[in-house]
Amino acid sequence: MARYSGAVCRQCRRENAKLFLKGDRCYTDKCAVERRNYAPGQHGQRRTKVTDYGVQLREKQKVKRTYGLQEKQFRLYFKKADRMKGVTGEILLMLLERRLDSTIYRLGFAASRAQARTLVRHGHFQVNGGKVDIPSFQVSVGDVVELREKSRQITCINESLDSVMRRGIPSWIELERDAFKGTMKTLPVRAELTTPEFQEQLIVELYSK
Ligand code: SF4
Repeated sequence: MARYSGAVCRQCRRENAKLFLKGDRCYTDKCAVERRNYAPGQHGQRRTKVTDYGVQLREKQKVKRTYGLQEKQFRLYFKKADRMKGVTGEILLMLLERRLDSTIYRLGFAASRAQARTLVRHGHFQVNGGKVDIPSFQVSVGDVVELREKSRQITCINESLDSVMRRGIPSWIELERDAFKGTMKTLPVRAELTTPEFQEQLIVELYSK
């Protein structure tokens, strides 16, 4: 299935949660979830009974949309998480957070994951000194992610770095703002993944059927 190209905020309204897909706008009262807190479409304001399956499906869609993935990619992450030792749902989130585009977003080089993905694809970043232009690249503990020298004047990146403190930088990564680089200190910490709230066990239940 092709990548979603409709109105971004509809996805948040469908999930009835702020997924922070649009950068700065998400922190203002222009946010569509704040303004119209009901599902999009003609029947969005109707009350409907949601089944267990529906709840699980919505949770899966929420995580998938937050990280901007397609169904097939998301399934592969789940399969990988399922094969690893530990709590499958938590490992799934950890794998998603370790993506290079997600790490760049968390470090504040981009206002949203979608923007981070574009910046990575355009070759603006390097990992441990080597250029990486694959958004799904898995960042490991100790890896240094750096903005390339020639890209340090890009306005949107600098603006994003200036406003990153508004959403905060998680404890597992460290940003050196003046050097335009960041380091992954530890694996992502589940307790800090609170915006938006995820109930990853529902995804495990959904895919275990
Ligand atoms: Fe749009 Fe951001 Fe609000 Fe989601 S959180 S509805 S992307 S402004």
